This record gives sequence, structure tokens and C-alpha cells, in this order.
Amino acid sequence: MAEIVVLGAGVIGLGTAMLLANDGHDVTVLERDPTPPASTAEEAWETWERRGVNQFRLPHYFLARYRSVIDVELPEVARSIERVGGLRHNPLLDAPEGFRGPERPDDAACEVLTGRRPVVELAVADAAVRARGVTVRRGAAVAALVSGPSSREGTPHVIGVRTESGEEVLGDLVVDMTGRRSPTPRWLEELGAKPPVEELEDSGFMYFGRHFRSDDGSLPFAFGGGIQHLGTISALTLPADNGTWGVAIVTSAKDKALLGLRDLDRWESVVRSLPLVAHWLDGTPLDERVVSMSKIEDRIRTFHDDDGPVATGIVSVGDAWACSNPSLGRGASMGMLHAVMLRDLLRDVGLDDPFELAAAFHRSTDAELRPWFAWTRATDRHRLSQVDAGVAGEAYEPHDEDFELEQSLTSAASKDPDLLRVMVRGALVLERPRDALSRLDLYDRVSELGGGWRDEPVAAPDRDELVRLASA
Ligand SMILES: Cc1cc2nc3c(=O)[nH]c(=O)nc-3n(C[C@H](O)[C@H](O)[C@H](O)COP(=O)(O)OP(=O)(O)OC[C@H]3O[C@@H](n4cnc5c(N)ncnc54)[C@H](O)[C@@H]3O)c2cc1C
Repeated sequence: MAEIVVLGAGVIGLGTAMLLANDGHDVTVLERDPTPPASTAEEAWETWERRGVNQFRLPHYFLARYRSVIDVELPEVARSIERVGGLRHNPLLDAPEGFRGPERPDDAACEVLTGRRPVVELAVADAAVRARGVTVRRGAAVAALVSGPSSREGTPHVIGVRTESGEEVLGDLVVDMTGRRSPTPRWLEELGAKPPVEELEDSGFMYFGRHFRSDDGSLPFAFGGGIQHLGTISALTLPADNGTWGVAIVTSAKDKALLGLRDLDRWESVVRSLPLVAHWLDGTPLDERVVSMSKIEDRIRTFHDDDGPVATGIVSVGDAWACSNPSLGRGASMGMLHAVMLRDLLRDVGLDDPFELAAAFHRSTDAELRPWFAWTRATDRHRLSQVDAGVAGEAYEPHDEDFELEQSLTSAASKDPDLLRVMVRGALVLERPRDALSRLDLYDRVSELGGGWRDEPVAAPDRDELVRLASA
């Protein structure tokens, strides 16, 4: 079995390390942030310093695909999340039966195991510390890659990394899990590798979020999905651990008129004005300010060009490979799918031929992960353009089949339990709607029931009132 060096002890980096160690590999995780995990959920929330993860205290929701991967592959992580108070619930079955219809056998797949980001990460870190074959070293910032003899002329082969303190940590494979800001292209350039093929754009959204807790552990009733598009804003209402939940407003970063949402009172006025969301403020606030984040990139990197891998001995997994607009909450699910894919490739292809492993990793990533990324990015682009058009007082009419389908499905899902399941399963990263609609032969029903989406009322104040509330 192999010596593997994982760069980054984020929530997916640690999950990947445990998956690989369960297969008998010896895994060392190097993490730049020095602070060890807190010992309780509340300490993690209040004091755990994680400078390496900008979104650490913004609302998160870990979707059903994340849950299903860890239930099957890493049950010790699932137990650890539950031990710290993680929430196991089924957002589909939580909806009234009159709306979703009677329970069906495969509805169980929609179950979610979630919590506030620091709490879930604490649970994953706790499981990693106990895992046989995993060594986590915090305060070990990686500064460069170390190369060895190439298996193909002109293609650098990575045999390890050098930390900022000058120590070399060598292995049979380096797994880059340093997240959205992964410096791997620069490190590879230093080894003389060709640049990766990169597609990068600012997703263009801005987040304004807060967390709350109830006195009795109960959660607010969800009158809609976890994300609701309400004219020029979207609202996120995300149940979490220990009777807590997150609320966020997402705007276009170009929408300067709503920048006032950084202010606590204005943020509250806007949320209170949303009839389906206002009651999510009825709890004890857990943060004294509105946590905001912008400049969130949609970025995908392929370390493979027309001639093959640009380097061997290294692969990028999770956000280091691709990251997208987080309001759809797919990062952790896609990251763990990617991790399982890597684990399976190491079983099937092995490490004897590093070139073949790198090429196979690229092929599998393109076949299994890229379609989820492409769908997410397309949705982002349409939503941002729709918001920007709304800010300019115009209707967004891209004459695009995918956009029309997505809008119609959202509308039709509220009228038909089959289509509700298609939409929810897509949102939970279980099956893409186009695949489900073809499989179930339901395309016609979407346009019949949802084709009138343009005429539906929006459960939010009009634009002028919204701007007034965000500036008053
Ligand atoms: C605002 C926001 C909200 C989100 N909400 C959700 C959500 O609801 N659901 C969801 O599934 N996903 C969500 N995501 C995405 C999710 O956070 C990521 O997909 C997930 O964190 C990726 O995990 P990772 O382990 O790949 O990377 P990260 O969690 O980013 O971890 C990277 C780690 O690498 C370390 N590191 C960086 N450089 C070095 C170095 N040189 N040496 C050593 N270590 C290094 C960092 O310190 C960090 O610990 C959200 C993202 C954002 C921005």
C-alpha cells in the first residue's frame, strides 16, 4: 500500500484521508492553520480559528449526497457528526403530506446529515484523529512541491512537498486539497510543468448571513426550499446542529443598492419583509454581526491538456479541482464523490504507472464530476444574469432551453409530487433533473404544469421597497 500526502485538512481533505487510510494507505495530512480543533460544538463555533477557510462561519447545509457517501463509506464520521449534535432530517418528508404525497421507498435517499460548518468540521477532525493510518499535522504550511525522476519525458513527477519550515514530506502520491485558493498551478510552474487548463470567473454573488438558535431545540418550519429566489435576492434558510440554523441573503455583488445588508438592522428589516422567511429570525442570534463574503469564484482546473497530464504524482480533489457558487451547497457532496472516485482509481489502476493514474483521474473526473459542475455553473450564470436584469428593471429572457426547464420545473414541483421529487433529488445532488425526467418520461408534464412560471407572484417586496429597507 502507498504513502499518500494530503494537502489541507478541510472537511473534504480529512474525509479523503480517512477513505484512503481505510484502504490500507498510510496518509499524512498537512494543514497550514495551526489551531487544533476545539473540544465541543460550542467551542468550535465560538473560538476555532480557521483562517484557511474564509467561509467557515457562513451558513452551510451538507446535502443528502454527502450524507449517503459518509453513511456508506465513513460511518464513523456520520456517528461523530451525530455525537456533536448534527441534524439528521429529511427535507422532502418534512414537507406536509398534502404537498409531497405519501412517502415512497426511495424517499429515504433524501435524508440529510448537517450542521454549522465549524461543528461538522470538528466532528470530521475528531474522527480523523482516531482513524488508523491517518496523521494530521496542523501548522505545517506547504510551500512547494518536490519532484523526482519523470515517468514521461517533459512531464514533471511529484514525489512530495516542502513545508515553509523547509521539511520535505515525501510520498507515492500528493493529493491537493487546499481548497478554492489552491496554489498548485504556481507550484507546478516552479517545476517546469505546463499550465493547467483553467476556466475562471467571479460567480458574482455576495452573501450576508447569520445563525440563530431556538430555546427548545426546535427548528423553524420550512415554507419553501432551502434556497428561494425572490426577485433580485435569494434567501437561504438552512437547518443545522443543536437547534441552530443559518439564514443568508444572496445578492449580485454589482447591486450596490443592497450593500446596506451588511448592517444588522437593515439585514433584519429585509429578512422580516419576506413572508416565507421572516419567522427564521425568531431565535437567539449566535453572531453579533452580519457575516458577508464576496468575490466567490466559479473555477475549474484541469491538469491535463491535449498531450496528457501536465504532471504526475499529484491530483487535485474537491474545491482545489473545481469550486462554484456555494448557494446551491454542492461543494461537500461533490468533494466526497471525487474522493471516492480517487479511492476507486487507486484500487483499479494503482500507482505503478503514474502517467496512467493521472490520465485515468482526468477521464473519470470529466465523466463523473464535470457534469455536476457544468450544471451548477450554468445555473449560476443564469441566476446572476436574471438578478442583474431585475436590478436594471428588465425581464431576463435568454431563450435558453436549460433556463426554461429549470424555471418551469421549480414551478411545476409545487403542483406535482413526482416533479417535486425530481427537483429535490437534483438539489440534493442525487440525480440531475434531466436524467430523472428522461428516465421517468416526465418532460411534457414540466411544461404543462410549470410553463406559466413568469406569471407567478414573488413572495418579497418590490424592488423599490427592498432598496428602501436595505438603506433605511
Ligand atoms: C460562502 C460559502 C458557503 C458554502 N456553503 C456550502 C454548503 O452549504 N454546502 C456545501 O456542501 N458546501 C458549501 N460550500 C463549499 C464548501 O465549503 C467547500 O466545498 C468545502 O469546504 C471544500 O472542502 P475542501 O476540503 O476541498 O477545502 P477547504 O475546506 O477550503 O479546505 C482547504 C484547507 O487547505 C488548507 N490549506 C490551504 N493552503 C495550504 C497550504 N499551502 N498548506 C497546507 N494547507 C493549506 C486550508 O487552511 C484549509 O484548511 C460553501 C462555500 C462558500 C464559499
